[in-house]
Amino acid sequence: MTGRLRDLPSVDSMLQSPQVLDWIGVFGRPLTVQAVREALEHARSRHAGGSALPDRHELEQQVHELLTSWTAPTLEPVINATGVILHTNLGRAPMSRAALAAALQVSGAYSNLEYDLKLGKRGSRLVHAEALLQHLTGAEAALVVNNNAAAVLLILTALARRRAVVIARSQLVEIGGGFRVPDVMRQSGARLLEIGTTNKIHLADYAEALGEAPALVLRAHRSNFRLIGFTSEPSLHEITALAHQSNVPVVDDLGSGSLIDTARFGLAHEPMVQESLAAGADLVCFSGDKLLGGPQAGIIIGRGELVARLKKHPLARAIRADKLCLAALAATLGHYLKDEAERQVPIWRMIATPLADLEARLEAWKQAIGQGEVIGGESTIGGGSLPGETLPTYLLALSTTGPDRFLARLRQASPPVIARLENDRVVLDPRTVLPEQEQDLLAILSSLLG
Ligand SMILES: *Cc1c(COP(=O)(O)O)cnc(C)c1O
Repeated sequence: MTGRLRDLPSVDSMLQSPQVLDWIGVFGRPLTVQAVREALEHARSRHAGGSALPDRHELEQQVHELLTSWTAPTLEPVINATGVILHTNLGRAPMSRAALAAALQVSGAYSNLEYDLKLGKRGSRLVHAEALLQHLTGAEAALVVNNNAAAVLLILTALARRRAVVIARSQLVEIGGGFRVPDVMRQSGARLLEIGTTNKIHLADYAEALGEAPALVLRAHRSNFRLIGFTSEPSLHEITALAHQSNVPVVDDLGSGSLIDTARFGLAHEPMVQESLAAGADLVCFSGDKLLGGPQAGIIIGRGELVARLKKHPLARAIRADKLCLAALAATLGHYLKDEAERQVPIWRMIATPLADLEARLEAWKQAIGQGEVIGGESTIGGGSLPGETLPTYLLALSTTGPDRFLARLRQASPPVIARLENDRVVLDPRTVLPEQEQDLLAILSSLLG
């Protein structure tokens, strides 16, 4: 064996060293003591296995590694160079500056979250987004909950528990992350009344089902896949007209629910919130962090009497939105109200970026890092919106030996960079790289390639 165990410093003597004293100031005494004990324990057990004893410097090094790894946040910002605008694994929509500022303001101080400043008594947290949503969409009422999956669950639980809900077989979809429409329906206690076939649903199928006095008709947007070929289904307007004859409300789960027409950017037309209301949907629900480009939230709008029933249900309390979300959402909705969403909401800015701007950015990147080839490519929307739809883009293709290894090194950078491979080359899409992250990205690329 190398070195004698009794030469290992004691915990107390380690804690006297100037280095360790500094760390006590930064990480606190209890955690530092724990790290010292763990480093010494590790040295002892490795010694028992025949390894050399570390010297004091190596021990201190290990203590510092433990302290930094225990306290480093596991959730951190990354640079998204994939070109997938709503990347669910990368946190979906980055928020606008105004939305960030609003969340910061209400979270660092007390706020009137549930306090009516005029009356000087308890108010409702729901007012902060409701008026904006009414103004924007013309809906009678609105309710914001934790996310859209929760919104669907609340609607079904509050309005259809132990009753039938009509849904077309072509809409029994899995959205991802474990959200399956039929499972959520069962979870709510509603009974599925499936109609039609996978590819064809006729209005007569709805008419027959309505004869069974269901609690409601649900329409779920297919979101992440397309149905093509020998297919047909009635329009939302036809469905609502028929359902209303039987006094059965129609709920439209839009998923993304855009407030802006995606067709203006050369994309397929994603169903819009305003269109669902105009087609007669009694309730419409959609996500806050998909094409709205705001915080994670589930937004429900529609008829006042139905929304009132949702608000009163005990589940609404369990899935309520918090103040950070409500502040950020109100600021995001404000961009739409002021017709500035394309300039202020990051995902719309990305979608609206002209090709020439992307090319110019890449030429500058190429200059800065001294290599790369600018090639044509495609960005995608992601987030379960507009499946198969792409936006033409430019990519910077890098010449690296071992592209997989290079991707891994990019992921280990600070901040981590997420890029992708195309034809065995590492490519970066500037569309999803936020302007304020560009300097960091170029510094990382230069140092890895240099
Ligand atoms: C994405 C999606 C959901 C789930 O929304 P979250 O906000 O992620 O909870 C529900 N329904 C549809 C149709 C969707 O596309």
